[in-house]
Amino acid sequence: MALIDFHCHLDLFSDPHRVAQEATRRGIYVLSVTTTPSAFLGTKALAPPNSRIRTALGLHPEIAVARENELSLFEKLLPSTAYVGEVGLDGSRQHRDTLDRQGAILTTILSLCAAAGGKTISLHSRGAVKPLLDIIEYEPLAGRPILHWFLGTEKEISRAVEMGCWFSVGPAMLRSETGRKVAKKIPLDRVLPETDGPLAKINQKKLFPWDAIGVNSQLETILSISSAEIEDIFSMNFKRLISLSGRDEIL
Ligand SMILES: [Zn+2]
Repeated sequence: MALIDFHCHLDLFSDPHRVAQEATRRGIYVLSVTTTPSAFLGTKALAPPNSRIRTALGLHPEIAVARENELSLFEKLLPSTAYVGEVGLDGSRQHRDTLDRQGAILTTILSLCAAAGGKTISLHSRGAVKPLLDIIEYEPLAGRPILHWFLGTEKEISRAVEMGCWFSVGPAMLRSETGRKVAKKIPLDRVLPETDGPLAKINQKKLFPWDAIGVNSQLETILSISSAEIEDIFSMNFKRLISLSGRDEIL
């Protein structure tokens, strides 16, 4: 099974074509998330023909309020993809004061996903886990939520699991104590690897899609399961998720 990076910002690398080509050469399954609807078509065009790169339509919570006028473009582009992201809520200090507005935008996005028959959705939840889960719960037909870099409490993890959420974890997340704690609690059959590159870095070095391999060895240490077994589980999870997505777009 090839490597998987289920949350990567291909368009934000300084040489996105080279990264897309290298990911293709290595046969990596990449979920290439975007931060605005206006970036979607250009980012989709980065994927060489017959690559395993799929592009998600996003409106990142840190800029969602400023780009709210792009919601109509979001709606227009939505039928062209099975994947949505990066969307979500950001409750960190700089963005906390717009949380209500972010919530209204995310509610609209999830209702559009529900109306479209459900999408596979990569969600950001920094500092806003509870309101994010509330909004997901409110729109159960939106599709399959994948909580990216999720740092919820034990109670919030159980709630997310009961709601049918999946999780994507990356090498940078697993470097933190909280990230490792979360990794021990989330069910491994709902986990996929990611990098969040180039935004995520380790020792100032941007992560590339092929750095998703680091998740296997980190989880080997954290969970005491062999990295070969982890790779098999990721592969099964990926196939299951794609079949749930109802379209085998990525295979
Ligand atoms: Zn991201």
